[in-house]
Amino acid sequence: MRGMEEQQILISTPALDVVASAVEPAVDDMTSWRDRAACRALDPGMFFPDEGDYVGVERAKQTCAPCPVAWDCLSYAVFTNQTEGIWGGTTKGERRRLRRHLVRKFREVG
Ligand code: SF4
Repeated sequence: MRGMEEQQILISTPALDVVASAVEPAVDDMTSWRDRAACRALDPGMFFPDEGDYVGVERAKQTCAPCPVAWDCLSYAVFTNQTEGIWGGTTKGERRRLRRHLVRKFREVG
């Protein structure tokens, strides 16, 4: 997948640090899950559709749906704040909402 090594911008807040430690094994073990990815033989560009290319987004999501490492992929994307592309079957907007939700939940528990 394009950009995995390029965009490792971590937004650090106490709540996200907790999220980060929860998903850290997925990041440490990155090579093994990538080897099992449903997209490993596909064009990485397929997962970076142009803005407004809803058909491209759906095509990428349909590839992710049965992927055996979708959770690892999504965890990695959330942990490293991947701001572009489809990761674990989610768009950048869906990941942004997920991050906000996680931060809110972690703040609630203390
Ligand atoms: S969830 Fe999608 S983008 Fe992630 S590894 Fe699987 S097929 Fe590739």
